[in-house]
Amino acid sequence: MRKALFKITQRVKNGRVFEKIANMEELYGVAGEKEQEKKFTTLLKHAIDTTDYYKSYAKYKSIEECPVIEKKVIKENYNEFLSNDFKQDELIPMTTSGSYGTPFTFYLTKEKKEMQHAEVTFFSRWANFDIGVKHGYVASKIKSKKDQFIQNQLSIAPFVISEDWLSNEMEKIVSKKIKVLIGYPSAIGAIAKFFVSKNKFYKLDGVITISEILTEDVRLNVKKAFGVTPISRYSTEELGVLGIECKKNQKHHLNNINYIIEILDEHDNPVKPGETGRVVVTDLYSYAMPLIRYDTGDLAVLGKGNCNCGLETPYLERLTGRKLEVLYNTDGTPVASMGLNGKMRDIENILQFQIIQVGEKDYKINLVAMKGFSEEKEIIRRYKELFGYDSNIKVEYLEDIPPLKSGKRPYILQKHY
Ligand SMILES: [Zn+2]
Repeated sequence: MRKALFKITQRVKNGRVFEKIANMEELYGVAGEKEQEKKFTTLLKHAIDTTDYYKSYAKYKSIEECPVIEKKVIKENYNEFLSNDFKQDELIPMTTSGSYGTPFTFYLTKEKKEMQHAEVTFFSRWANFDIGVKHGYVASKIKSKKDQFIQNQLSIAPFVISEDWLSNEMEKIVSKKIKVLIGYPSAIGAIAKFFVSKNKFYKLDGVITISEILTEDVRLNVKKAFGVTPISRYSTEELGVLGIECKKNQKHHLNNINYIIEILDEHDNPVKPGETGRVVVTDLYSYAMPLIRYDTGDLAVLGKGNCNCGLETPYLERLTGRKLEVLYNTDGTPVASMGLNGKMRDIENILQFQIIQVGEKDYKINLVAMKGFSEEKEIIRRYKELFGYDSNIKVEYLEDIPPLKSGKRPYILQKHY
């Protein structure tokens, strides 16, 4: 164990990750905005000077003047986004899973990659996770045996969430003395529920959820099973950690040191606090492939004033998720995701659920039910109340919710119709 930790330390020290973490500790919540401006000016100049796409940006003085860029635009003008300041072979390719589209490759500099590592570590400390802590990684990406050893990680890949799998993973978490779980809330929630159903309690130091929305139902089960408040991390592979929840208020505090994160309406104007908008990000460390006002495809509600946990940074009142994860009632009005999962909160003997909109008035609820489940009628009643009395709701029973290509199991899904 010591040896592994020592190795990790040495390996990390070859780079400048620790220096970056220390720098974040110093600046976060203190000098975010001031730093942002300086870094933005440098990035904009670099983008204008070294890429074809941003050449025409010389006329822009401030970020507000720059147009918002959608992924589609990058796809169509891919090579023009690459900075000629770097050779391809000194860069690190990062391919996003493409669960909602085709896979996409971004390029990162070594500096940016280190920054991602620093961000993850800095924010994970909020959930008692630090470099070297024994943890379970609950995601479809399995790291090599060597990396798992160095990082003190146990891979828990939720390809099929069956009772056998759950019972197996439960045993591993306990016998390997896992301290922290990091991963998809759908899978962590199912594991927690399984612990509860077997009347097992196992104390963890922290739980960090990624990639999907952390629902109320998962929060409750994690608390019951592991005696800890889970916190949701908002990160993307191409960017890094954009924000993380504080333990007190379930608000995502934004990473305003390394990014400028704006919440914009359909006319690209900032929304008022309390309103929903698109999450548009300028990555202040994206030197290989500058991303200035990049539309992430996520929706969020901007927070009002300061969060009362005491941290004075901008925060999201709520992360609504991907645009494709928004469902509409039969009138065409979006339904709040909180309302959607809240309806399932006290329904017993369900391992997993997924609500899919398949038509304007048609919905499907996928259920992985355990023995003793008997509340189908009640579920339909509740969702009719939410979607409209003229809605058609079908319940389908499955052994497991089929994961998307990325391995994620979003609890809300909108099928194109
Ligand atoms: Zn807070």
